[in-house]
Amino acid sequence: MQKQLNIVLFGPPGAGKGTQSEGIINRYHLTHISTGDLFRKHLGEGTALGQEAQKYMDHGKLVPDKIVIGMVEEKISTTPDTNGFIFDGFPRTVHQAKALDQLLESIKVSITVMISLEVPEEELKTRLRLRAKTSGRTDDQDDGKILTRINEYREKTLPVASYYDQQDKLVGINGVGSIDKIFDMVCEVLDPKFELT
Ligand code: ADP
Repeated sequence: MQKQLNIVLFGPPGAGKGTQSEGIINRYHLTHISTGDLFRKHLGEGTALGQEAQKYMDHGKLVPDKIVIGMVEEKISTTPDTNGFIFDGFPRTVHQAKALDQLLESIKVSITVMISLEVPEEELKTRLRLRAKTSGRTDDQDDGKILTRINEYREKTLPVASYYDQQDKLVGINGVGSIDKIFDMVCEVLDPKFELT
């Protein structure tokens, strides 16, 4: 078994990735890499990368692969000692998934498992509309942007699940229910990998 365990947390916008990440990080002491959070940080700081990403994010479109991959590469290479990474909102295209495999290979580790939070589209729309009231995120604010994000997910991101399935790394979890119940199911998958059982 490799010493570093790396998880991809996968799911459509509004599936609960951010919420479940928190619990996973606390339990398994992983380094969180959320590309959405990293972009929002760049935006807040007004960096060139942030300004470039904003053009896409504001419309609910995916940021180009080259920008995303460069940002993740930088984060990985500046985190030398870790139990592992949890990738949240990344990879979002098959191209990103292949680039991630190569990046990890270069530091002699790999993805251990992908957890996919499964939530029906109608439920996602309801959640994102509700989140718009408190998140302050411009991409939550109107139905057009929400629909674009869900379409981007269906067209470009969903194939990433098959990519990991082909490597026998995909585990689907029902993302509808209480946060605690969903977290229990996540732990059932991860505890054996981390030898916590
Ligand atoms: P969501 O709640 O929709 O899952 P995120 O916070 O993960 O949102 O991401 C917000 C936005 O940031 C996305 O709609 C997209 O524009 C951009 N983004 C985040 N991660 C990626 C990625 N891996 N590839 C391309 N664009 C990304």
